[in-house]
Amino acid sequence: MNVILLGPPGAGKGTQAQMIVSAYGIPQISTGDMLREAVAAGTALGQRVKAVMESGALVTDDIIIALVKERIAQPDCTGGFLFDGFPRTIPQAEALVEAGIQIDHIIEIQVPDEEIVMRLSGRRVHVDSGRIYHITFNPPAVEGKDDETGEPLIQRDDDREETVRERLRVYRDQTEPLVEFYQSLADNSPGSMQYNAISGVGDTETIQQSITSILG
Ligand code: ADP
Ligand code: ADP
Repeated sequence: MNVILLGPPGAGKGTQAQMIVSAYGIPQISTGDMLREAVAAGTALGQRVKAVMESGALVTDDIIIALVKERIAQPDCTGGFLFDGFPRTIPQAEALVEAGIQIDHIIEIQVPDEEIVMRLSGRRVHVDSGRIYHITFNPPAVEGKDDETGEPLIQRDDDREETVRERLRVYRDQTEPLVEFYQSLADNSPGSMQYNAISGVGDTETIQQSITSILG
């Protein structure tokens, strides 16, 4: 089963992805996490994308498409995968079509802008595992520490309010057109691809239930 989680930054894609991974046993492919790992490791790729990511803009399609193609060729993806934060532009989505990569479910998570700003300004992450917290909505057991390892949590550089507003603008401009792209693709391929939009507001368990009722 191949799944795409679509939605603005802060919609809860990463949070829901972690639950889907444990329920369905398919790997989460988060291009954001992969890029942040490259930046942290100081690889050539990391050096190329660091400034772009800090500004809230998107990394070029060529880089992302190559990264994803390499990732889904790994053996753990043979039973399916979950894209979180990819595709983010029409050319990225077209690259999947051209490569013959079939998607079974697109789930769009809808959240209003003001809620997003609140969520991202309070987001804290454990870098090594990608575990996601919120200072108010999903706090760790001990303030500032990861529940499993006790290691410090960080605030992402791009989660500052000015950058969040820029990322939302980028989302509306470059990623939201994918809603129509995938709706019409699903309409034209009945039975093989499903498009569903759900509300991403409310407690995470209720949202998870909406997702599992779609995925079955
Ligand atoms: P969020 O889901 O909070 O927006 P991500 O972790 O998915 O953040 O992405 C962080 C940054 O990484 C983006 O702002 C962008 O610079 C870059 N990035 C991640 N995925 C993509 C992608 N598919 N295409 C282009 N840039 C990407
Ligand atoms: P995305 O991957 O779409 O950028 P995240 O899963 O990282 O989003 O969630 C963004 C922030 O919002 C995190 O701090 C997370 O703990 C919090 N969050 C996620 N889902 C909800 C929810 N349903 N209600 C309130 N806060 C949430």
